[in-house]
Amino acid sequence: MKVFRDLAWFFKQERKSYLLGILLLLLVAALQLVPPKVIGIVADEIGNQTLTWSKLGIWTAVIIGSGFFMYIFRYYWRICIFGSSVKLSRLLRTKLYDHFTKMSSSFYQRKRIGDLMAHATNDIQAIQQTAGSGVLTLVDSLATGGSVILAMAFTISWKLTIIALLPMPIIAILTNWYGTKLHHRFRLAQEAFSSLNDKTQESISGIKVIKTFGQEKEDIEEFRKQSDDVVQKNIAVAKIDALYDPTISAVVGLSFFLSIGFGAYFVVNGSMTIGQLISFNTYLGLLIWPMLAFGWLFNIVERGRASYGRVSTLLNEKVDIEDTSTGVDQVPSGEIDYKIQIFTYPNENTAVLQNINFALAQGKTLGIVGKTGAGKTTLLKLLIREFEGYKGEIRIGGIPIHEYKLDAFRRAFGYVPQDHFLFSTSIKENIAFAKADASLSEIETAAEIANIHEDILNFTEGYQTIVGERGVSLSGGQKQRISIARAVLLNPEILILDDSLSAVDAKTEEMILSALRNNREGKTTIITSHRLSAIQHADIILVLDEGKIVQKGMHEELMNEEGWYKDMYLHQQLESLVEHGG
Ligand code: ADP
Repeated sequence: MKVFRDLAWFFKQERKSYLLGILLLLLVAALQLVPPKVIGIVADEIGNQTLTWSKLGIWTAVIIGSGFFMYIFRYYWRICIFGSSVKLSRLLRTKLYDHFTKMSSSFYQRKRIGDLMAHATNDIQAIQQTAGSGVLTLVDSLATGGSVILAMAFTISWKLTIIALLPMPIIAILTNWYGTKLHHRFRLAQEAFSSLNDKTQESISGIKVIKTFGQEKEDIEEFRKQSDDVVQKNIAVAKIDALYDPTISAVVGLSFFLSIGFGAYFVVNGSMTIGQLISFNTYLGLLIWPMLAFGWLFNIVERGRASYGRVSTLLNEKVDIEDTSTGVDQVPSGEIDYKIQIFTYPNENTAVLQNINFALAQGKTLGIVGKTGAGKTTLLKLLIREFEGYKGEIRIGGIPIHEYKLDAFRRAFGYVPQDHFLFSTSIKENIAFAKADASLSEIETAAEIANIHEDILNFTEGYQTIVGERGVSLSGGQKQRISIARAVLLNPEILILDDSLSAVDAKTEEMILSALRNNREGKTTIITSHRLSAIQHADIILVLDEGKIVQKGMHEELMNEEGWYKDMYLHQQLESLVEHGG
């Protein structure tokens, strides 16, 4: 029951609804006692031959009246209690989503997307159930069970009540035993379901690989096995679950047997009337529901507790890139002063960057080149505050980057990552993603700079063409250029192209770069690339190797010294010559 204490903050917040709901539940429990009592009284009147039409009319009205009020009250407690529990799930889901958007890359590196989605759906649903059905079954089983037992003991016969309740401990013992078994089997079933989920997600994401390697049969076989496993484990759960109701019916049957047997004896020896015996047995019937509810309660609360634990752990994970409310609330601009002594990724041992020192005046272009894995992207990720925890300092316009407010800070950048991403909406919306109020002509200008305007006009629906799973398929180069247009549209202080031209040909690359040079007067641009032609006009070029700067200078300078840059440049020139049949 600890989960109810954990949720106390919510119950307090929704105090009014819950109190009203519980009050109505109690009223229903009290009203429930009326019909059996009336039936007993009427039976006795029949036995004594004292029943008149008018008395019958009154008693019928009482039964109908109590039925009517129960109907109304039941309707409203549902609204109060279930309505509030829905609010809880909305609240938790929003909290979780908010948290997800605050978490940095390192968080998403550690978590599996499938798991996060399970937390946001299954777990929240289980918690909602605890705050809804859980509260209901707890209050209802206690209120109904308690009031029925009290009514039997005090208005009819305490002796017969004790006799009839004698078999009840059997239920407690058996359900406790089932509960432990159920908990264990339920966990196994959930785990099997989780792994089936993971398997499905992975297979569908990797379907192309599965097909190219002709592994469909094996994959289907594996799926069938896991699916069978889920079925087996759920059958095991159902086998225990199925024991609950017959057990309760059997024990209640035993109670009926005792109450009729001993009740008849009490009637014969005159200490009870037939009407009272009828009422008593009807009350006994009313006890079945609270006992079943108690069994469910155990189940619901158990699941709610586990889910609440998981969600809280997730919510308590610290945001690792913290925002300061007192920070500098202006979009950074000016010189970039980059001084990193050492940076190691979280939970890794080897340093990825060492002694990276350079300054880039506002409006200049920086080119970064080097082998794959040299640390180019990492260098950029530190600049845009995707990772922190380095030794050293990065300043923009003289202010250390962590002193800016995050929102203002991020507005300085237009970042085109290597693994660009398009949303399943129109091309127009994809380009205007970070500037929803952009006019069509602004969007077109950005598309022209990114050399994608003509391509877009060739699609049947132009800028309204939907991309992604439900729309047209774009080539890698087209996607890259749309991503570039998205960043260019912001006209950011600092534009970062992280190997974003890899899928376009050399001629298109040159056109995009020269359009950028013409349109970004006074603004800073940073380009990483494998193709040296992309950065040869840069004001400063850094050559990275194993996280260190091994060469630094302008193109002409680097061509005049022996080293990786000159070798690679000549090599790539030769390659392009061969490609063009030279
Ligand atoms: P480049 O952009 O030059 O290809 P990266 O900056 O992507 O190089 O990678 C530099 C090194 O850092 C590589 O050894 C890579 O394996 C490692 N690395 C990159 N990203 C991460 C990460 N998120 N966590 C741990 N190691 C990483």
